[in-house]
Amino acid sequence: MKNSVKLCETNIMKILTSTFQTKHNTAPFSQIKIEDYQPAFEENIAKARAEINAITNNPEAPTFENTIEALEFSGEALERLSSIFFNLNSAETCDEMQKIAQDVSPLLTAFSNDIALNEDLFKRVKAVYDQKETLTLSPEQSTLLDKKFKSFSRNGALLSDEKKEILRGIDKILAKLKLTFGENVLAETNNYKLHISNEAEIKGLPEGTKEMARSLAKSHDLEGWMFTLDFPSYLPFVTYIENRELRKEMAIAAGKKAFQENDYDNQENVKNIVALRHDRARLLGYKSHSHFVLEERMAQTPEKVQSFLNDLLSKAKPAAEKEFAQLTAFAKELDGIDHLEKWDGAYYSEKLKQKLFNLDDEILKPYFKLENVLKGAFTIAEKLFGITFNEVFDIEKYHDDVQTFEVLDFEGRLVAVFYTDFFPRKGKRNGAWMTSFKPQYIKEEINERPHVSIVCNFTPPIVSSEKSEAKPSLLTFNEVTTLFHEFGHALHGMLANTTYPSLSGTSVYWDFVELPSQVMENWCYEPEALSIFAKHYETGEIIPQHYVEKIKESASFLEGMATLRQLSFGILDMSFHGKPQEILTVKSFEKSAMDGTTFYPDVAENCMSTSFSHIFQGGYSSGYYSYKWAEVLDADAFAYFQEKGVFDKETALKFKDTILSKGGTELPMELYKRFRGQEPKPEALLKRAGLI
Ligand SMILES: [Zn+2]
Repeated sequence: MKNSVKLCETNIMKILTSTFQTKHNTAPFSQIKIEDYQPAFEENIAKARAEINAITNNPEAPTFENTIEALEFSGEALERLSSIFFNLNSAETCDEMQKIAQDVSPLLTAFSNDIALNEDLFKRVKAVYDQKETLTLSPEQSTLLDKKFKSFSRNGALLSDEKKEILRGIDKILAKLKLTFGENVLAETNNYKLHISNEAEIKGLPEGTKEMARSLAKSHDLEGWMFTLDFPSYLPFVTYIENRELRKEMAIAAGKKAFQENDYDNQENVKNIVALRHDRARLLGYKSHSHFVLEERMAQTPEKVQSFLNDLLSKAKPAAEKEFAQLTAFAKELDGIDHLEKWDGAYYSEKLKQKLFNLDDEILKPYFKLENVLKGAFTIAEKLFGITFNEVFDIEKYHDDVQTFEVLDFEGRLVAVFYTDFFPRKGKRNGAWMTSFKPQYIKEEINERPHVSIVCNFTPPIVSSEKSEAKPSLLTFNEVTTLFHEFGHALHGMLANTTYPSLSGTSVYWDFVELPSQVMENWCYEPEALSIFAKHYETGEIIPQHYVEKIKESASFLEGMATLRQLSFGILDMSFHGKPQEILTVKSFEKSAMDGTTFYPDVAENCMSTSFSHIFQGGYSSGYYSYKWAEVLDADAFAYFQEKGVFDKETALKFKDTILSKGGTELPMELYKRFRGQEPKPEALLKRAGLI
């Protein structure tokens, strides 16, 4: 390479390697220049290609070490660079970064496709896989071998050339159909606008939403208020507007998305997507698309998912029926309404909730100062897992808002480097997430410790000025549970103790990945834990118990009906991907699949499948059940803590040893049973939600 010498004279060499001359080998943010990324990606992809070639050109016979392990540890520098770049592109981006992301993404896709389709490489992997029975492998090594083999076979590596062609053809059409599905939903969302000029008609709407609606109208050169099917506009509309006819109009408009006789109709797309997914799965030797997907999930089989959904449905239904009767009686008493319709649900639920709880965020916020909540999370982790968090100031950060911590075990050894980044700013995307700048793994007998980060968009502190007095960041209760949730993911990353990076930390089946995060949220409701951190920021008073009770009760308000709704989506998803041959029309199929899961009368002109983007555009096909699955797991796991004491060291140690440290090294159900002594049961969830 002609210019590689020149490149190495500049800063680019600093991001070309996987080891930096920094404390704990942390990312050297200050030394990275944006213009260095693109050439660094190109160099590192070339380097990774050379590493793959070294495996395929190896004259020795394929072994676990020279093929599977070599493949696992190839591309390390590229991984490191990618995680730094894409983490920053989410948390601290700019136009230039976004442009680079667009330019390098196709390069990365092409590179990973080249690996997946590399026949010489697959031959070697298969040769090792075929001798599996005769090799003495640890459980982790055995999982790694399966994973590497499956990454090829699930993409058609075992098929004849002719069938490979068919598979590529299906994938191409599927990619296009999914895109079209999403574009249609978006177009239908954007095409609908409701303009209202009489203020009396929007009675009930909160000021903030009203303001938004007014400026939207203005942007269309109209007086009055304008509403759309976008969630931030739609949801407050159907929740607060007193005018029932208008709520009906809005709800029906939303339910019609991509189910109208126009260019954006998704009915044929739904049929084609599920048919092609089915064909693809059959081609690869699976009974259905669900079988194909669930092979790499904790649930493992469609039968398991179906019985899970049906069991939960029958157990939650009586409570849901009671709630619906309560809601109906409330609507009757308030407005003389005899039969609730779909457009009444959110409205009367909110009214009833206000009547029963009247729980205001502003009353609770003073008890949740961010610094206290974070310290509380640290103390809880120390009590449970024996690790301490010490803020340090000699590790580079990518923004002043970021805090850096050394996480140490009881003997003072480094467990992880931990970054927090809490406040919104330009260049950070919405939401909250956990990520890592470096995974944990063991190589050449050195246990490389991970660099983990959580990124949120919490209420920022107010800096004192002429107009306002300084105020610390005070969190809503929802933000408190979000912090604990992401912290739970972070613990999964930080306490990892595996050999291979692709099996480390949160690299687990995705119906298992929310267990550590969701289980941590439970401590936010425990008086023993709240007394550690929920202290009034001015007076130091611990949050009164009756507030805690109210928080708990309101968290499970109308939970039965919400559960049925979630289950109905899971059941619909499994039906589409289990028996697509039974679809006559999308509407009739949906109606019969969801039968018995809803209380509201059907609306003939509405269909939810045609805008069910989660499963037809996104990656949730045969996976929607995982929302409830994860809740059952966390409730069942936490019930175990409650039996033994929420700070019981032995239980926590068991959780760490069997779950948190193990990543994806073994089947999740095996890990879970080792922790709990049995498979998860839905009773703990039903009990927590007050449904039994
Ligand atoms: Zn999560």
